[in-house]
Amino acid sequence: MPELPEVETIANGLNQRVQNDRIESVWIGKKKEPLKSPAAEIARTLEGTLITGVRRVGKHIVFDLKPFDLKPERGPGTRQWVVHLGMTGRMLVTAPGSEIEKHTHLIAKLSSGRELRFVDPRRFGRLEVREESFAGPGTEPLLVELEDFIKLFRKSKAPIKAALLNQKLLHGVGNIYADESLFRARVRPRRRANTLTKAEMEKLHAAVRKVLQEAIAAGGSSISDYVDADGEAGFFQIQHRVYGREGEPCLVCKSPIKKIVVGGRGTHYCAKCQK
Ligand SMILES: [Zn+2]
Repeated sequence: MPELPEVETIANGLNQRVQNDRIESVWIGKKKEPLKSPAAEIARTLEGTLITGVRRVGKHIVFDLKPFDLKPERGPGTRQWVVHLGMTGRMLVTAPGSEIEKHTHLIAKLSSGRELRFVDPRRFGRLEVREESFAGPGTEPLLVELEDFIKLFRKSKAPIKAALLNQKLLHGVGNIYADESLFRARVRPRRRANTLTKAEMEKLHAAVRKVLQEAIAAGGSSISDYVDADGEAGFFQIQHRVYGREGEPCLVCKSPIKKIVVGGRGTHYCAKCQK
């Protein structure tokens, strides 16, 4: 599943390719699962708009749209097209007439002649349109200040790993980056969130941002089969220090990395380095 750094990379790639292009018409497939808004509403909202920008909000891709034709029924306001990639969703920018992949659920024809396509074999991805500004459910991990970060977790009795994954608290930290952040902060994943000291919270706050920023700089680190906005595979992978390294020696102390389950998710840590 693409995590925050991958979504950031994809959103930036889309922004470079389709900003200031216009959506002329929209085709939507028959499968209902990817449609969080009704098909007719998605088509009506997208058609006849200028894409003013594409950005990441949490793990969502948000297209900011502005009507460019003057049909009065559209109203003057801006609106958003919000895409969640789910497990296997991809947004492709294709040349006109290029072959339509199986599991294509939406095609937006652009004024440039290219097409923006949403492809998703497993159909956990979601397409939604909104009139008001989409902010996402939780706090943005790359922007949150230390004081607010501490407040998020102060009252939680959940294991810190589960709290990091709770999208109502921090929006967009996934399994890989939660494990990597906890390792760097030297905090055990099962520690109850409300037992972390201020010093540990400071380390964790810094670690979450550092891990995500490094991964964004490396172009995301997904190990699954999705591609960037050009349809090309091949993201760099940051070196995971604990994630996926069960039984291998810790890079700091050489003890074997352990794997446990916390909040239903496979969790990797070093029992010697993390307290
Ligand atoms: Zn260690």
